[in-house]
Amino acid sequence: MKVNEILSNGKITLSFEVFPPKTDAQFESVRQATIDVAALKPSYMSVTYGAGGNTRKNTVAIAKGIQDTTGVTTIAHLTCVGATKENIHNTLDEMKAAGIENVLALRGDRPRDFEGDPFVDFHYASELVSEIKAYGDFCVGGACYPEGHVEAANKSEDIINLKKKVDAGCEFLTTQMFFDNNIFFNFLYRVREQGISVPVIPGIMPITRAKQVETARDLSGCSMPQRFLNLVDRFGSNPKAMEQAGIAYATDQIIDLIANGINHIHVYSMNKPQIAEAIQKNLSEILK
Ligand code: FAD
Repeated sequence: MKVNEILSNGKITLSFEVFPPKTDAQFESVRQATIDVAALKPSYMSVTYGAGGNTRKNTVAIAKGIQDTTGVTTIAHLTCVGATKENIHNTLDEMKAAGIENVLALRGDRPRDFEGDPFVDFHYASELVSEIKAYGDFCVGGACYPEGHVEAANKSEDIINLKKKVDAGCEFLTTQMFFDNNIFFNFLYRVREQGISVPVIPGIMPITRAKQVETARDLSGCSMPQRFLNLVDRFGSNPKAMEQAGIAYATDQIIDLIANGINHIHVYSMNKPQIAEAIQKNLSEILK
């Protein structure tokens, strides 16, 4: 099924994100974890992609495994950094053969310590979006950044660039993680003001281990409010308490978003079925 159909059926959606194994040796355990997340029957699931294509086969295989085993619709992420058009066409052919109808079109990060221009046939995700739409019958989504993308000169420019991605055919947007809903609401206001009308789906990251704080900051550059940092400070050294507090914080963010009219929520559940399940349980009446 196409994700834009799921997003337009008038119901609140809750989706989960998982990542593929980096090595073949990890394949079976990761596959099982992703199936366990899918068994919760989220509205759909997305499967990330290693920049540079190093998880290409596994991204497709994990997404196919989820769909074939549980019937849950998947989105396969796809990055274009370092890719030729031919590479992209081959991957799209593999996705089509696997029954995957949805792609999250991403540029990917510039590789660290790479000398020269890491981009081959594509410089921006908008070019990838156009290429996918011209190549096949896929529903295509993209990424957006409530606090601005790290490389953007400022937020206004980033939103102008985002409009180019939507004009290229991007049908929905999923946000980078954020820990203060006001940042999302301000962003949404500016996105709508720019004339972008596609669904903007907040991406919520449950931080359930203190160690994740630095990783999340490094990966996303997102800010963390004092209220959240107090929680990590108080519970970070007690793994069970930190997990409970992190799930409660993410649940609180989600309830506030839904209470303020946001009907689609994406949870960076990683490959943790117990965390996805706990959040889903906390929302059981709200999702009815
Ligand atoms: P773009 O939309 O191309 O934007 C990149 C930068 O270029 C921005 O600063 C933008 O303002 C600027 N820009 C865009 N168009 C133009 C233009 N026409 N002219 C000038 N400047 C322009 N990475 C992975 O490797 N694998 C994943 O699976 C993955 N999944 C992700 C999922 C989500 C929801 C998010 C938010 C990010 C994900 N990422 C993933 C990270 C992403 O690849 C990086 O953030 C990357 O640096 C930017 O990708 P993008 O698709 O947003 O790029």
